Amino acid sequence: MVHTIYVPTFAFWKGDVESRLKLLEEEVLHNEKYKGKFEMGLEIGGLAKHFANQEPIDQIYGNMILVAGGVKSIVHGFAGLEVYTAGIADMSDDVGKSLLERYIGLGKKLNSSYVHVHGSAGFQGIKEPENKSDRLQKIRENLLYGLSISDGIPIGLENLPTPSACDFDSNPETVWSDCVQQPADVQTVIQKTPLKFTFDTAHYSINRNGYIDLIAPVKKMKDHLHHLHVVDSCGYWKANVSKCYDGSIPGDGRIGPDSFEKFFKHIHEHHPDLGICIEVRNIDEKNPEQTRQGIRRVLNWLSQ
Ligand SMILES: [Zn+2]
Repeated sequence: MVHTIYVPTFAFWKGDVESRLKLLEEEVLHNEKYKGKFEMGLEIGGLAKHFANQEPIDQIYGNMILVAGGVKSIVHGFAGLEVYTAGIADMSDDVGKSLLERYIGLGKKLNSSYVHVHGSAGFQGIKEPENKSDRLQKIRENLLYGLSISDGIPIGLENLPTPSACDFDSNPETVWSDCVQQPADVQTVIQKTPLKFTFDTAHYSINRNGYIDLIAPVKKMKDHLHHLHVVDSCGYWKANVSKCYDGSIPGDGRIGPDSFEKFFKHIHEHHPDLGICIEVRNIDEKNPEQTRQGIRRVLNWLSQ
């Protein structure tokens, strides 16, 4: 059993698939230090328009086959503020169900190992939504529908920061929040089902103080844990004052190297085949040097 190391790709652009594949080949596949110790894969993301209908998805499929045919893949879809503003990603609604069908259709054609999404059940403001439990229930129904048509591809849900669009807005009246934020929300949706959990370390760390214990939330999820988004965060979201960001190289942000080192020891011991995606933001996305640094650190922690 080995870990598969993934990096995100906006696969609508052929050049992006090429640069990410080259990076994985250099750092994972052909790295003398780790020969045979890790597998590699691409996690497909993009902009809302890349998944809004079938035509761009066919182009994504074509690029993946042409450039990365045979390489492991995961379908994650689009993220950022667009999951709310584009109006097609809400998994508690029929629009989200249709989007999930398109993601799963792509995953089936590519023989992907996982399809996972954000709840994207957004509302504006910092408040407890009145209909939260109904929306979580609807998300569960739609994800279970997805699982019923996925031909065995696992379907999962990711935790989000609080507020979930905290890197776009500091106004507590207009910032977007989500019915699915903390791991506890994900747990409400997936408990007593075969649905899976994607743990995003940066989303979890945002606005937490002191030592960030990454092990506790994955222990709680037990067998639901299926995939990691590994990245650090910085800044604090403060009403009308400041925003916070995810995207730092793991170890360079609030989580820091000590917590990550302990976390990966636990992961390697207890989840030796877990998929791990390095979700770092690059200064120049055409030249993903920060992702390269992130891969190096994670492989080092996993090998200690
Ligand atoms: Zn993530």
